[in-house]
Amino acid sequence: MTLAVDQRWLLLHMGSWQIVHALASPEGVANLMRSRSGSTGGRASDLNGSPEWLADCGWEINGSVISARARRLPGLNIKAAEINRYAAHLPADIKAELVACRDAGTANAVLRARFCHCGHHDHATYMPWEKDRICPPTVEQENNATADYWRIRAWQHVVLAKALGLNGRSHIANDQLDLFEVGA
Ligand SMILES: [Zn+2]
Repeated sequence: MTLAVDQRWLLLHMGSWQIVHALASPEGVANLMRSRSGSTGGRASDLNGSPEWLADCGWEINGSVISARARRLPGLNIKAAEINRYAAHLPADIKAELVACRDAGTANAVLRARFCHCGHHDHATYMPWEKDRICPPTVEQENNATADYWRIRAWQHVVLAKALGLNGRSHIANDQLDLFEVGA
């Protein structure tokens, strides 16, 4: 049992850290299902080469099932168990890249959350419970973290397309694809 092409397109469309995490480990699938995140639809797909039904497709997550909200393709669902089964059979190198990409995204989010612009001369004195703040970050620290954020976003898309066996390209990723598609 594997994920059908339409199911894989939906996951690529949802994209980002959560889906990378879901394909990287069963913990990621549980996390995704718990998130009950959704998109109310109307989100334009920015994936080149994607099927037409995806053009105005949202989704919702309820009771361990992802349901597409696609006017042109009613009834498309993905169960948690189906993602787990699919992920369990991914080649080891793709699995390793998913894990590396997930961890890079996590580290970047953690770093960016530490940046603080509260304006206190000595943050640690005023808010001693917030020991890990970088307050204030240097312009270079912020620029590097932002550049990393976009680099990781592009990487997420590339690794997901690879893991899902699809060629869809995000316009977000287009600028940065050269960095990742050497030899592809
Ligand atoms: Zn501060």
